[in-house]
Amino acid sequence: MCSIFERTIYPDPESEKAIMGSVVYCIHHKEGCQWSDELRKLKAHLNTCKHDAVLCAAQCGAMIPRVLMQDHLRYTCPRRRANCEHCGKEFSGSALEEHQGNCGHEPVYCENKCGAKVQRRHTQQHVQQHCSKRLVPCRHCGQRYTQDTVSAHGAMCSRAPVPCPQRCLAAPARDELDAHLRDHCAAGSVLCTYRDAGCRFKGTRQALERHTEESSQQHLALVSALATRQARQLESLRSAVARLSVNYTGALVWRISDWAAKMAEAKCKDGVELVSPAFYTSQYGYKLQASLFLNGNGAGEASHMSVYIKILPGEYDALLRWPFAHTVSFTLFDQSSSPDRACNIVESFVPDPTWKNFQRPSKEPDALGFGFPRFVSHEMLKKRNFVKDDVMFLRVKVDPSKIVAV
Ligand SMILES: [Zn+2]
Ligand SMILES: [Zn+2]
Ligand SMILES: [Zn+2]
Ligand SMILES: [Zn+2]
Ligand SMILES: [Zn+2]
Ligand SMILES: [Zn+2]
Ligand SMILES: [Zn+2]
Repeated sequence: MCSIFERTIYPDPESEKAIMGSVVYCIHHKEGCQWSDELRKLKAHLNTCKHDAVLCAAQCGAMIPRVLMQDHLRYTCPRRRANCEHCGKEFSGSALEEHQGNCGHEPVYCENKCGAKVQRRHTQQHVQQHCSKRLVPCRHCGQRYTQDTVSAHGAMCSRAPVPCPQRCLAAPARDELDAHLRDHCAAGSVLCTYRDAGCRFKGTRQALERHTEESSQQHLALVSALATRQARQLESLRSAVARLSVNYTGALVWRISDWAAKMAEAKCKDGVELVSPAFYTSQYGYKLQASLFLNGNGAGEASHMSVYIKILPGEYDALLRWPFAHTVSFTLFDQSSSPDRACNIVESFVPDPTWKNFQRPSKEPDALGFGFPRFVSHEMLKKRNFVKDDVMFLRVKVDPSKIVAV
């Protein structure tokens, strides 16, 4: 500005007066200064013009229009004093500019783009511990997923445990469920083939195969014990059946089949004795058995058929009266087709109380009975229909009504 003055003023002192007197605007007219006066007063105006630049009051060296000085000193002068808006610390202007962008208290967006804004000093911690986009390993398969997707992954992760659909206590990994159900599931288990013998093993098919291989000794012992138990049961069943089928009526109709063969045997062998099923005189009575020598014995040997009655040791002997004193009768039936013409053979006796065979029998049944050595002669047997269709019927009847005591 000064150079313009000097160049235009000095060449022509005459015109200087005229120029200095001419009316001009302030050189800062465009910036908004409204001043207008004689040129000679311009210099003085510029000393106060709001728009004219002067050296920064803080001596930063910058030329600043007066009107902006306040702002410069406050906001842009490198030598200004100012506080960081985030941490509150006071800085010189240049230091603040450096500080800005580094202030630990300034909230910044997370670089993982999780959307969170955290103070710069906490970004490390946020990224490592809180950021929803940080990578975390799936605890089942170990693959890394962002924290906000890892639980969705877990719901499908092939290594995540799932409850067994058969409700055993196991929780196999999802990709091992099939194998679990096939080979290991305790709920889908099978029982040992020897369970009826008492083996309590329960397991998967695979485990059962192993068990069967390893337990043959144990299984053998179980089966053998079972056989023993069953034998005992059979025995007690047999005696129960025998008790049920015992005849308690006091009368036995003895059917002797294959008569011809039995007679032939009796004739060629000595002492062939047929014995009847045992029977009781009443439910809690004496136990008796008839015996028959087809070819006779004693006085009837080879000529007669002999019949005897024997007293066997019975279950109620201790409660009964001894000697045995019931009347015993034998009837050989004539099987004639017309009953009117039938002629049965009947013999009976009242026991002699002195005869030892009517005393209470010992455990071993006495071989001897009491009866009729000459019950029917062989001759008589041929005459009538005592044997028909190779079968003979002999009735043995015990009658307590004719006894003296009991
Ligand atoms: Zn001005
Ligand atoms: Zn300045
Ligand atoms: Zn700060
Ligand atoms: Zn984040
Ligand atoms: Zn996983
Ligand atoms: Zn299972
Ligand atoms: Zn077993």
